[in-house]
Amino acid sequence: NESPAKKFQRQHIDPKLPLSSTYCNKKMEQQDMTQGCKPLNTFVHEPLKKIQAVCFQEKVTCKDGKTNCYRSTSKMHTTDCSLLDTSKYPDCKYQTVQKERYIILACEGNPFVPVHFDASV
Ligand code: ADP
Repeated sequence: NESPAKKFQRQHIDPKLPLSSTYCNKKMEQQDMTQGCKPLNTFVHEPLKKIQAVCFQEKVTCKDGKTNCYRSTSKMHTTDCSLLDTSKYPDCKYQTVQKERYIILACEGNPFVPVHFDASV
């Protein structure tokens, strides 16, 4: 069974920068997020260690009001995948938009690691 930490890695980490505008169509499928066509998902294109280090950076309040969120102190390479409203289930079609942003992650456990992507700013 997949741990919350491994699920975070599957859904949100891809160290390689995308090379094409069809990145999200392929990557969302490859990473198993197209069963229900997940409506919005962000990939972070940085090394695992650098993303895990965010759990020890700036503490902030999460969108749901919990206090286990952390904002990165530097901008990171990200890609937002948003489901197109013309997408016809089960054929999930996404818009691919690359951004350089600060990321906000929820962290849990021992070791204290990312389990949820809260936002990018
Ligand atoms: P994501 O939100 O990263 O797209 P999921 O919704 O699949 O991914 O999983 C998020 C996981 O993180 C859930 O198991 C949830 O319980 C956990 N979690 C821990 N802290 C928070 C938080 N502050 N806000 C939202 N989810 C959190």
